[in-house]
Amino acid sequence: MNAQETLNEIAAQVTGCEKCALHFSRKNSVPGEGPADAEIMFIGEGPGFYENEQGRPFVGQAGKFLDELLEIAGLKREIVFICNVVKCRPPGNRDPLPEELSACASYLDRQIEAIDPRVIVTLGRYSMAKFLPNARISEIHGHASLVHGKLIVPMYHPAAALHQPSLKPQIMADFKMLPQILDQMKKDKKTIPVAETPKEETNLPGQEEPPAEQLSLF
Ligand code: URA
Ligand code: SF4
Repeated sequence: MNAQETLNEIAAQVTGCEKCALHFSRKNSVPGEGPADAEIMFIGEGPGFYENEQGRPFVGQAGKFLDELLEIAGLKREIVFICNVVKCRPPGNRDPLPEELSACASYLDRQIEAIDPRVIVTLGRYSMAKFLPNARISEIHGHASLVHGKLIVPMYHPAAALHQPSLKPQIMADFKMLPQILDQMKKDKKTIPVAETPKEETNLPGQEEPPAEQLSLF
């Protein structure tokens, strides 16, 4: 089976999946979308209202902001793969529960294996925690690190930045660095560029940013 066939098979399984209680309240499950040979994967949390209506990832307000962020990064939506850690909407957009995350994990694992992207951009805490379980998003957003041979770039969730406007300049600055991070990855250099903290950002107490620096991968 080639990568596209594997993705199709996963999408079909997700469509009929009843492995966790989220299937009771979903209208449409949202397997994710994008080319099977995508070099970059974006992984969010879970479908919201509009995603549940349409069966497509990031089509609501957060999705519109993600489109803007992709444009800032010079990436066309059609060339990246976009999905979520849980494929069905948690009612009322609540956080996914541990048993839902673990029931759904194998679909995402198989998508990652089939696509085999160079870079995984995590959007928000839940997808970051899959790769960097002890990290704090306020400390490592925009900082790339290698996990099992893949470059993981944790970003704030676009919806978080919409709810907390002080995060907006930072998430935009972090996305602006993505092309350089990708270039660097292709050249196989050992340092990965990191965005500077925008001056207008006001950190909450306990959320001070580390100084912008070149992060060593090894
Ligand atoms: N938020 C997410 O995490 N995923 C979506 O698909 C939409 C909003
Ligand atoms: Fe299945 Fe995942 Fe949907 Fe739960 S969230 S029903 S595990 S596809």
